[in-house]
Amino acid sequence: MKIQEADAKSLLVAEGLPVPDWEVARSIEEVRIAADRFFTEGAREIVIKAQVLVGGRGKAGGVKLAGFPEQAELVAGSILGMDIKGITVRKVLVGPAADIVKEFYMSAVLDRAAGRILLMGSAEGGVEIEQVAATNPGAIVRIHADPLLGLLDHQARQFAFAMGLGGHLKAAVAIAKGLVTTMRAYDADLVEINPLAIVRELDAAGGPVERLVCLDAKITLDDSALPRHPELEALRDPDEEDPADRDAREAGLTFIKLDGTIGCMVNGAGLAMTTMDLVKRAGGEPANFLDIGGGARADRVAAAMRIILADPKVDAILVNIFGGITRGDEVARGLIEARAIQERSVPMVVRIVGTNAEEAAALLEEAHFTTAATLDEAAAKAVAASRGAAA
Ligand code: GDP
Ligand code: MN
Repeated sequence: MKIQEADAKSLLVAEGLPVPDWEVARSIEEVRIAADRFFTEGAREIVIKAQVLVGGRGKAGGVKLAGFPEQAELVAGSILGMDIKGITVRKVLVGPAADIVKEFYMSAVLDRAAGRILLMGSAEGGVEIEQVAATNPGAIVRIHADPLLGLLDHQARQFAFAMGLGGHLKAAVAIAKGLVTTMRAYDADLVEINPLAIVRELDAAGGPVERLVCLDAKITLDDSALPRHPELEALRDPDEEDPADRDAREAGLTFIKLDGTIGCMVNGAGLAMTTMDLVKRAGGEPANFLDIGGGARADRVAAAMRIILADPKVDAILVNIFGGITRGDEVARGLIEARAIQERSVPMVVRIVGTNAEEAAALLEEAHFTTAATLDEAAAKAVAASRGAAA
């Protein structure tokens, strides 16, 4: 689950990381109130940032500065309601603008191959890390945290020096360690600060001081670990969740959209993977991974069908059910019901084996479904049907 920058910043603050003050506003009036507050508190400029769950807001015109309250209203008017990569901006973050001296990149990600948290840093901040990796891979510093001990002090110091943050060593060490504690505290799979910035501020005597702060924050949480953090469920942004993902979650289905044309409805994660492999081997491309789970009843089958058909690229469906707890006849009834109400008709190939397979076969035959006895046959028929539809 992705969370908004403002929510990610709250989690960072809770872990003790330095983040400039901010407020979230949903209207021009709310922006004005926040702007008045920050200007009164001494800000020379304020920053207004679109809160949408996509990167590159700056380039898209979703991050802007304002030097006085009326300008803040104008800027808010231009950002609220704008479209960034297909998402409408409904809220913005407002805060005192940072006077940036230099931008860096720092992130913690789950390195599944190594089974550890990987810290990545670069002195080329503000730029997407993928771009740095492509054009200047040597500029990225990497270090693994220890699975039991976390990021050790000497590791963090080495990392900070290698990133070019020797001049802000103490802060850089605290932030690097903070990223790792944030990862672990919330079961995140990514905590990314881009930019991590050296900013110029005024001290109590009015003299300039430099400080290292997290200017942007991106956190993605491990969906499978969310039950351990019920309070984080409130950070889910229903405005931005893909409708298919939301439907699947509410129906209790495990669904991952892919790029192909053959919709797959399967019970069990392992069987779903196998089904996708066999579709590929038969020359097709799966449109999704979909596990209807054990003991699925007719209504869940109908929900799965609706979610699969909502993808306009799907031009054939392969249903592969291994009946154990799941009863084949129950699935067959679900398919028949679903087909009766579905808005769009695509060829479907059904293979049901195991519990109540004979009853299922009789029901499907009566309803004129295309069936298959083996998985290879089902995959071949589905691929042929998809090709026929595409031609
Ligand atoms: P993103 O484009 O979605 O990653 O949004 P960011 O929050 O990273 O902002 C993009 C860029 O806007 C940053 O790299 C900065 O150069 C600039 N920016 C963001 N906040 C401030 C700020 O407070 N002051 C100034 N001067 N620039 C900012
Ligand atoms: Mn950024």
